[in-house]
Amino acid sequence: MTNNRTVTCQHCKKELPPDHKGHCPSCGSNKILFKISVGDGVILLRGGLQIRKKVKGFHEFAIKIVQRWRPSGDPKLGGGVNCELVIDKEKGIKHHITRDALTGEITHEEHEPLSRHKHQPKQQDKRWKQKSR
Ligand SMILES: [Zn+2]
Repeated sequence: MTNNRTVTCQHCKKELPPDHKGHCPSCGSNKILFKISVGDGVILLRGGLQIRKKVKGFHEFAIKIVQRWRPSGDPKLGGGVNCELVIDKEKGIKHHITRDALTGEITHEEHEPLSRHKHQPKQQDKRWKQKSR
Protein backbone atom coordinates (compact mmCIF):
# COMPACT_ATOMS: atom_id res chain seq x y z
CA MET A 1 0.00 0.00 0.00
CA THR A 2 1.35 3.37 -0.95
CA ASN A 3 0.54 6.63 0.71
CA ASN A 4 0.86 9.56 -1.58
CA ARG A 5 -0.05 12.99 -0.36
CA THR A 6 -0.59 15.82 -2.79
CA VAL A 7 -1.37 19.42 -2.01
CA THR A 8 -2.71 21.63 -4.77
CA CYS A 9 -4.25 25.06 -5.01
CA GLN A 10 -7.86 24.81 -6.14
CA HIS A 11 -7.74 28.27 -7.63
CA CYS A 12 -4.67 28.18 -9.90
CA LYS A 13 -4.08 24.37 -9.77
CA LYS A 14 -0.48 24.88 -8.67
CA GLU A 15 1.13 21.89 -6.94
CA LEU A 16 2.47 22.78 -3.52
CA PRO A 17 4.91 21.00 -1.18
CA PRO A 18 3.20 18.19 0.84
CA ASP A 19 3.77 20.05 4.11
CA HIS A 20 2.44 23.38 2.81
CA LYS A 21 0.30 25.42 5.18
CA GLY A 22 -1.62 28.63 4.61
CA HIS A 23 -2.30 30.57 1.46
CA CYS A 24 -1.19 29.68 -2.04
CA PRO A 25 2.19 31.37 -2.66
CA SER A 26 1.34 31.72 -6.34
CA CYS A 27 -2.11 33.34 -6.38
CA GLY A 28 -2.80 34.01 -2.68
CA SER A 29 -5.94 31.80 -2.60
CA ASN A 30 -6.80 30.01 0.63
CA LYS A 31 -8.54 27.18 -1.21
CA ILE A 32 -5.87 24.57 -0.74
CA LEU A 33 -6.82 20.99 -1.56
CA PHE A 34 -5.23 18.18 0.45
CA LYS A 35 -5.47 14.79 -1.15
CA ILE A 36 -4.09 11.49 0.08
CA SER A 37 -4.00 8.47 -2.18
CA VAL A 38 -4.03 5.18 -0.32
CA GLY A 39 -3.52 2.29 -2.71
CA ASP A 40 -6.26 2.57 -5.30
CA GLY A 41 -8.55 4.76 -3.24
CA VAL A 42 -8.38 8.45 -2.60
CA ILE A 43 -9.15 10.13 0.70
CA LEU A 44 -9.87 13.81 0.63
CA LEU A 45 -9.06 15.72 3.77
CA ARG A 46 -11.11 18.82 4.29
CA GLY A 47 -11.37 21.12 7.21
CA GLY A 48 -14.42 23.28 7.56
CA LEU A 49 -13.57 26.91 7.24
CA GLN A 50 -15.49 29.80 8.72
CA ILE A 51 -14.72 33.46 8.28
CA ARG A 52 -16.59 36.27 10.01
CA LYS A 53 -16.24 39.93 9.32
CA LYS A 54 -17.32 41.98 12.30
CA VAL A 55 -18.54 45.53 11.75
CA LYS A 56 -20.09 47.91 14.28
CA GLY A 57 -23.87 48.13 13.91
CA PHE A 58 -24.32 44.53 12.76
CA HIS A 59 -25.43 41.82 15.15
CA GLU A 60 -22.74 39.11 15.51
CA PHE A 61 -21.22 39.67 12.06
CA ALA A 62 -21.50 41.69 8.84
CA ILE A 63 -20.30 38.96 6.49
CA LYS A 64 -19.96 35.27 7.25
CA ILE A 65 -18.42 32.74 4.87
CA VAL A 66 -18.68 29.06 5.65
CA GLN A 67 -16.93 26.48 3.49
CA ARG A 68 -17.49 22.81 4.05
CA TRP A 69 -16.89 19.59 2.19
CA ARG A 70 -19.52 16.88 2.13
CA PRO A 71 -20.02 13.62 0.27
CA SER A 72 -22.51 13.64 -2.59
CA GLY A 73 -25.20 11.08 -3.36
CA ASP A 74 -24.65 11.74 -7.07
CA PRO A 75 -22.37 9.02 -8.56
CA LYS A 76 -20.97 11.64 -10.94
CA LEU A 77 -19.64 13.52 -7.91
CA GLY A 78 -17.55 10.71 -6.42
CA GLY A 79 -15.14 13.16 -4.81
CA GLY A 80 -17.91 14.91 -2.93
CA VAL A 81 -18.85 18.55 -3.12
CA ASN A 82 -17.60 21.78 -1.59
CA CYS A 83 -20.38 23.91 -0.15
CA GLU A 84 -19.85 27.60 0.27
CA LEU A 85 -22.35 29.69 2.18
CA VAL A 86 -21.94 33.45 2.19
CA ILE A 87 -24.20 35.59 4.37
CA ASP A 88 -23.60 39.21 3.50
CA LYS A 89 -25.55 41.52 5.82
CA GLU A 90 -23.88 44.58 4.32
CA LYS A 91 -25.42 43.87 0.92
CA GLY A 92 -28.40 41.94 2.35
CA ILE A 93 -27.79 38.85 0.24
CA LYS A 94 -27.09 35.19 0.78
CA HIS A 95 -25.09 33.04 -1.63
CA HIS A 96 -25.06 29.27 -1.59
CA ILE A 97 -22.64 27.69 -4.03
CA THR A 98 -21.86 24.01 -4.40
CA ARG A 99 -18.84 22.89 -6.39
CA ASP A 100 -17.58 19.52 -7.56
CA ALA A 101 -14.70 18.91 -5.13
CA LEU A 102 -12.49 17.33 -7.79
CA THR A 103 -12.95 19.70 -10.72
CA GLY A 104 -14.10 22.87 -8.98
CA GLU A 105 -17.05 23.17 -11.35
CA ILE A 106 -20.18 24.79 -9.94
CA THR A 107 -22.96 22.20 -9.60
CA HIS A 108 -25.48 24.33 -7.74
CA GLU A 109 -25.86 28.05 -7.17
CA GLU A 110 -28.41 30.07 -5.19
CA HIS A 111 -28.56 33.77 -4.49
CA GLU A 112 -31.33 35.17 -2.38
CA PRO A 113 -32.06 38.34 -0.47
CA LEU A 114 -31.62 38.07 3.30
CA SER A 115 -34.87 39.87 4.14
CA ARG A 116 -36.90 36.72 3.33
CA HIS A 117 -35.25 34.89 6.20
CA LYS A 118 -35.60 37.65 8.75
CA HIS A 119 -39.31 36.89 9.30
CA GLN A 120 -38.78 33.44 10.76
CA PRO A 121 -36.91 34.35 13.97
CA LYS A 122 -39.36 37.23 14.63
CA GLN A 123 -42.33 34.83 14.60
CA GLN A 124 -40.50 32.52 16.97
CA ASP A 125 -39.80 35.43 19.31
CA LYS A 126 -43.50 36.32 19.42
CA ARG A 127 -44.50 32.75 20.22
CA TRP A 128 -41.95 32.59 22.97
CA LYS A 129 -43.23 35.84 24.50
CA GLN A 130 -46.82 34.57 24.46
CA LYS A 131 -45.84 31.37 26.25
CA SER A 132 -43.93 33.19 28.95
CA ARG A 133 -46.89 35.40 29.88
ZN1 LIG B 1 -3.03 29.35 -6.31
